[in-house]
Amino acid sequence: MSLKKYIRDIQDFPKEGIVFKDITPLLIDPKARKECLELLVSSVKDKKIDKVIGAESRGFFFGMLLAEELNAGFVPVRKPNKLPFETISASYDLEYGTDSLEIHTDAIQKGDRVLIHDDVLATGGTAKAVCELVEKLGGVIVQCNFLMELTFLNGREKIAGNEIFAAINY
Ligand code: IMP
Repeated sequence: MSLKKYIRDIQDFPKEGIVFKDITPLLIDPKARKECLELLVSSVKDKKIDKVIGAESRGFFFGMLLAEELNAGFVPVRKPNKLPFETISASYDLEYGTDSLEIHTDAIQKGDRVLIHDDVLATGGTAKAVCELVEKLGGVIVQCNFLMELTFLNGREKIAGNEIFAAINY
């Protein structure tokens, strides 16, 4: 099955000139969703994952499914001031300005084997910030995986040195 069929292009969202890849048709279809999950799971099979990190917010959907399949803990990485306990943060560049992401300080133990998941790898800024958070807490990044990679944006250069997997490539 070609999973690309379940990704919809939305012109000029969230602003003019941007073509947004909408994953909701994939989420709504149980067969396609299962196939996508199986692809992601098989890429880390036997790699003994302790924690799966999902990046807010579209990384939560498959992040939790992955954690369940891999019998691992699930850790949300969130936008500022959303997490209630003690946090550390990492900032990343946006087109105009910067933003940051936070993680609970007790979410990763030293030496934990971590799978980082998000829906899209675009410029790589988000994934790089998540990698920084994991490294600050002493986690071992086993893989960064994504539903899709927009290869023409070269996001993987920002997280070079890590294993990277995407179920769909554009
Ligand atoms: P990056 O930081 O430029 O790699 O952008 C990745 C982040 O932006 C991810 O958290 C995505 O959810 C979001 N993102 C960027 N482009 C798209 C898109 O076309 N569809 C859905 N999410 C996107």
